[in-house]
Amino acid sequence: MSLSNPLSSAPESLPANADERTREIAANLKDLRGRIDRAAAQAGRSDQPELIVVTKTFPAEDVLRLAQLGVYEVGENKDQEASAKAQQTAELLGRSTTADGSSTTGKLRAPRWHFVGQLQSNKVRSVLGYAGVIHSVDRSSLLKALIKAAADRQAQPLDCLIQVDLREDIPADSRGGAAPDQVPTLAARLAEADGLRLAGLMAVAPLEEPAEPAFQRLAGLSGQLRAEHPEATWISAGMSGDLEAAVAAGATHLRIGRDVLGHRGQPR
Ligand SMILES: *Cc1c(COP(=O)(O)O)cnc(C)c1O
Repeated sequence: MSLSNPLSSAPESLPANADERTREIAANLKDLRGRIDRAAAQAGRSDQPELIVVTKTFPAEDVLRLAQLGVYEVGENKDQEASAKAQQTAELLGRSTTADGSSTTGKLRAPRWHFVGQLQSNKVRSVLGYAGVIHSVDRSSLLKALIKAAADRQAQPLDCLIQVDLREDIPADSRGGAAPDQVPTLAARLAEADGLRLAGLMAVAPLEEPAEPAFQRLAGLSGQLRAEHPEATWISAGMSGDLEAAVAAGATHLRIGRDVLGHRGQPR
């Protein structure tokens, strides 16, 4: 057990009235943070990657439970589900304030929604309604729609990551990541767009090879990107099955679903 580590020592302060599901999630979070700590120590890292809990297929009540446990970064991969859940979460947060002004859930704030799935241009306006971060900018047509939609909204700039397809042989009809040689062009356009902020790169490990060499290529691409855009420091990589490889390769943001919330059954 490391006491100096901010993640592992983060208080998993269980609310006094925590239900069984909250306890289950708290226990999973504790195990996960131990795993992240060990991976970071093994990689000789003194910094800590940030945790984004992917809540897809799980209800808004679980998002609230996560907030009670101090987790305010949540990820979703489908607009229809995410927009409904963001709305429900806001309602639950509002409802938790009773008539006399006292709150039944303490000082919970709204979570930050990370959109991590494939994004269609016609969903961009909807996603901008709730998301604070988009991890999946992967083509110029999508970027064009984002630039247009972001230009007429008065809000904090939207953090955007360029999703990279790490496969060695990328099919022509690839959806789910830009080819590495497209990154500089997308990055240049993103960096100068009003209302958007180039935050870094994102990737999902390819099925065709072990995760670690693929994530090391992502780290190399991130180095090249940062040479041009020093502010683009995020590396969003690592899921429940491959977080150790991602931490070893320098991931700054992990996207974890199953190992916190449990099995999803059939993906929707
Ligand atoms: C579902 C999902 C995750 C989380 O995966 P788990 O295996 O549940 O940890 C991470 N990233 C993306 C893009 C996802 O769709």
